[in-house]
Amino acid sequence: MLQVKDITFSYNKTPVLKDISFSVKPGEHLSIIGESGSGKSTLLKVLYGEYDTEKGNIFWKDEEILGPKHNLVIGYDFMKYVAQEFDLMPYISVEENIGKFLSRFYPEEKQKRVAELIEVVELTNVAKTKVKLLSGGQKQRVALARALAKQPEIILLDEPFSHIDNFKKQSLRRSVFKYLKENNIACIVATHDKEDVLGHADKMIVLNNHNIAVNDTPENLYKNPKTGLIASSLGNLM
Ligand code: ADP
Ligand code: MG
Repeated sequence: MLQVKDITFSYNKTPVLKDISFSVKPGEHLSIIGESGSGKSTLLKVLYGEYDTEKGNIFWKDEEILGPKHNLVIGYDFMKYVAQEFDLMPYISVEENIGKFLSRFYPEEKQKRVAELIEVVELTNVAKTKVKLLSGGQKQRVALARALAKQPEIILLDEPFSHIDNFKKQSLRRSVFKYLKENNIACIVATHDKEDVLGHADKMIVLNNHNIAVNDTPENLYKNPKTGLIASSLGNLM
C-alpha cells in the first residue's frame, strides 16, 4: 500500500501542496484531478521522490520514499513514473527503446516481453521504426511501455493520453488500464479527461487550494457532489 502522510511541499515560500494524506492499495487505480496549476504534476513528482518534502512522509509497503537529500539516485524499482515530457532514445527503434532496461541474459524472454508490451500500447505496426520518426502520441505510448517493462508495483502517469488522438485514445486507455488491473499494478493518474476517470478509476482526488478537496469514488462524487467547486470540476469532468 502507498501511504502518503501529511506531506507539505513548496518550490518557493508558498506551499503548492499542504498537509496532503491519502493511500493507494496494490492494484488500485487513483485519479487526481484539479485545475491547471493545482499541483497534480508536482504531487506525482513528490511521490516519485524527485523533490524533498518539508513535512510528512511517503511509504510504499515498508519502504520509505525519500527525496534527493536522502537518496542518491532518484526513483525505486517498484515505482515508475511517466512524465508529461518523455525522454526516449530517438535513433533506436520502438522495440529497442522498450527493451532498453531489460536484461540481455534471457533474449527470448526479453523479446516476448517487449512484444507483449507493444501490443498493450498498440504499436505493433511501428515496432521496428526509429523513435524520432514517430508522432507525439506514438512516443507517449513508447514511454508508457518502457515504464511497464520491468513490472513495477505502482506507476505514476501524468496526463498519459494527452498527445493521443481521440480516435485511438479509447481503445488504448482500455488496453492499458486492463493490463494494469490484470497485473495488479497500482496506478495514480493525473488527468483533465473525464474518460480517464469514469469506468476506470477506483477512487479520485480533487486538488484545490493546495489540498485535497475530496477523496471518494467517481460514482459517489458524480451522484453527490458536495461543494460548488467539486460540482464545477465535475461539470467539466463529467
Ligand atoms: P498541474 O500539474 O496541476 O497543472 P503543477 O504541479 O504543474 O500543476 O504546478 C503547481 C504550481 O507549482 C503552479 O503554480 C506552478 O506554477 C508551480 N510550479 C510547477 N513547477 C514549478 C517549478 N519547477 N518551480 C517553481 N514553481 C513551479
Ligand atoms: Mg501537470
